[in-house]
Amino acid sequence: MLPANDPSLSSWINVDSDSDFPIQNIPFGVFQTEKKSARVATIIGDTVIDLAALAQLGYFNEIDSNLESSFSQSYINQFMGLGKKITNAVRNRISNIFEKNNPELRDNKEQQAQVLSKIHEVEMLLPVQVGDYTDFYSSREHATNVGTMFRDPENALLPNWLHLPVGYHGRASSIVVSGTNIHRPKGQQKPNDGPPVFGPSRLLDFELEMAFVVGQPTKLGQSISTAEAEDYIFGITLFNDWSARDIQKWEYIPLGPFLAKSFASTMSPWIVTLEALEPFRTEGYDQDPEVLPYLKYSGKKNYDIKLEVAIQPEDGQPHVVCKSNFKHMYWTMAQQLTHHTVNGCNVNVGDMCASGTISGPTPDSYGSMLEISWRGTKPVAMPDGSERKFINDKDTVIMRGWGIANGVRIGFGEASGKVLPAL
Ligand code: MN
Repeated sequence: MLPANDPSLSSWINVDSDSDFPIQNIPFGVFQTEKKSARVATIIGDTVIDLAALAQLGYFNEIDSNLESSFSQSYINQFMGLGKKITNAVRNRISNIFEKNNPELRDNKEQQAQVLSKIHEVEMLLPVQVGDYTDFYSSREHATNVGTMFRDPENALLPNWLHLPVGYHGRASSIVVSGTNIHRPKGQQKPNDGPPVFGPSRLLDFELEMAFVVGQPTKLGQSISTAEAEDYIFGITLFNDWSARDIQKWEYIPLGPFLAKSFASTMSPWIVTLEALEPFRTEGYDQDPEVLPYLKYSGKKNYDIKLEVAIQPEDGQPHVVCKSNFKHMYWTMAQQLTHHTVNGCNVNVGDMCASGTISGPTPDSYGSMLEISWRGTKPVAMPDGSERKFINDKDTVIMRGWGIANGVRIGFGEASGKVLPAL
């Protein structure tokens, strides 16, 4: 077991029992305040920890005296690029500094004032400078549901689907951090009877996804094997791949999603490391037909992480419309990264790969309104008496994710976004 994952550890910082951020998590993000410029942080309970300040005070000198530079950045990219030997040592050191029996910072109120803030006192920023973003399509249930609705229930999966992780190159510029408002996209739509029309999307949807962040680069021509893949993955975030179904339906043939997806994607502010997720490893799917040798893998490469989506109308309470799990992935992250690089395509620190909509086997676990409302034929009843087939203006979509193992809850915070009317 990794030292920082020890369930018996507790912190001198208060952690509520339902917190996503016990001392065993130690995710990485970026914040700023009125007095502090953007810098790298972690969080325990609801206390944000300024890592640049900790480094300046000398707390990481035994690992690397230059960490202050990596933490005094607007993104975590430089820190991730130091490699897992350093980043894991930092995670272990943070665990040690905040462990309840360590007096170093616990008994130094003056230094605490420089290092600690409450979460409501800071502004969380986009943590990763995303160079390239790829979206996969790796939940069999989701692909089957979409194929059933739009093509043919008898042949819901296209012939390639069980042989390779299908994906497309997405848009990095419009990835935003949780809390950022989204304007309803406009675009071409094609009514069933008549010519195409232009206007605000009427079928705005979310897609419940998780995304991994690449922490190490490859060279052009190089490929990553499934055995190596996790060395290149720094961590994981919640991801809402906002989708305009009416625009998508008209534009996607033959090259896949374009403007229906590129207007915005929302990520949570904290990147949870793969190391913190060790206790949640679980078996993947039996893959039949057998995959080609380069896609085979061994070990537990799926993760048992509960996922939830709620819709909150303006002036209303959040209403959970989906309960899914990251383990519903037919293609693992390792297979996705291996496939992505098998042709020699290079990856860079900060590249992001989203999973594709994560739908489970039952209707209450479907990861998009398209599936939950089955193309609008089964509206969701909201507590305020209204109905949702898709997402209305002024609705906020809130995604959460967490796992519980050995009595320890490791969570991701939330990825939320409010939909404003089209500009
Ligand atoms: Mn997607």
